[in-house]
Amino acid sequence: MSAIDSLPPLRDVINTHDLRARKSLGQNFLLDLNLTAKIARQAGDLTGCDVLEIGPGPGGLTRGLLSEGARRVLAIEKDARCMPALAEIAEAYPGRLQVIEGDALEIDPLQYLTPPIRVAANLPYNVGTELLVRWLTPKDWPPYWQSLTLMFQREVAQRIVAEPGSKAYGRLALLAQWRADAQIVLNLPPEAFTPPPKVSSAVVHLTALAQPRFPADAAVLNRVVAAAFNQRRKMLRAALKGVAPDIEDRLATAGIKPTERAEQVSLEGFCALARAVAAP
Ligand code: SAM
Repeated sequence: MSAIDSLPPLRDVINTHDLRARKSLGQNFLLDLNLTAKIARQAGDLTGCDVLEIGPGPGGLTRGLLSEGARRVLAIEKDARCMPALAEIAEAYPGRLQVIEGDALEIDPLQYLTPPIRVAANLPYNVGTELLVRWLTPKDWPPYWQSLTLMFQREVAQRIVAEPGSKAYGRLALLAQWRADAQIVLNLPPEAFTPPPKVSSAVVHLTALAQPRFPADAAVLNRVVAAAFNQRRKMLRAALKGVAPDIEDRLATAGIKPTERAEQVSLEGFCALARAVAAP
């Protein structure tokens, strides 16, 4: 499918609707439709999928998702000023774009979506991380989404895909990699955005696994990982003292040395430790 649609260039859309970027809403727009189509392609085969887009703004990525064949796009945008621009896109793609004006942190989109569902977004950093954690910690697994394709500042993207032994390795990497495949699929310089942000960005693509990579109780795993990384410089026997009184025995059961530090322990190791901690 082509990225070209009958709609005006995004710069004209911004001018016509007076969409001056607001810092308070984390607005850094993507105005190059070739680039937004490229990001949309990273979301996988959209044909036959409903796509949930958070923060469409003037609609660059929305147009990419539609022109790349999404069956339907549900877009949630907080900024009322964007509604007329998004209405024009809805008109150009009859029956395929539904826009909800509101805060994505407060709206449950599920009632508006039909599986299979993919998620795509270029969001402000803080909202993106909060939503990512929510998407990765639903009550039941597998989640409602097949994949998440999300823009982050590069440093956060690196924390999501980080491997043990690296500085970026921590709670976010373990949370993401336990039940999803996570990859950086695109790096973007500040100049790709209008206005340009201070830092570089990256698109992360996450695919939900049918089941967790290693067995563990989600709440126990979360507790162990949080305690371990809250004091990441300490040896595990000290950092995890509050998790179980006999933590040294539990570490031994999991095959982890009590003198190791959190960032040396693999996902498999943390899952083994969570099982050992949960055991009677
Ligand atoms: N997707 C557009 C693009 O790529 O050009 C806009 C990206 S801009 C970085 C982030 C967008 O998210 C803005 O349009 C902003 O108004 C919107 N936004 C910010 N916080 C939001 C929230 N809590 N819920 C929904 N949208 C939000």
